[in-house]
Amino acid sequence: MPINTMTDELTWQETALCAQAGPEFFFPAPGSSTREAKQLCNACEGRVACLEYALTHDERFGVWGGLSEKERERLRRGRG
Ligand code: SF4
Repeated sequence: MPINTMTDELTWQETALCAQAGPEFFFPAPGSSTREAKQLCNACEGRVACLEYALTHDERFGVWGGLSEKERERLRRGRG
């Protein structure tokens, strides 16, 4: 889920489908489903760049690039 700051690094945000959806999809209350956000991510052109951004910037909350915080944590551990 991108933040609103626009820099060269964040041009993938221009195609971000989540910009059209509400933040409640991407920052769901604890214990609620992330399924809808992930479905949107799977159709998003910027998914890979979004996920890389979240991993690089250690984004801890919300769905980024189709992965929840727990899934990103697992991926980070696997990479490390
Ligand atoms: S991959 Fe998901 S969180 Fe990332 S920009 Fe696209 S819709 Fe938003």
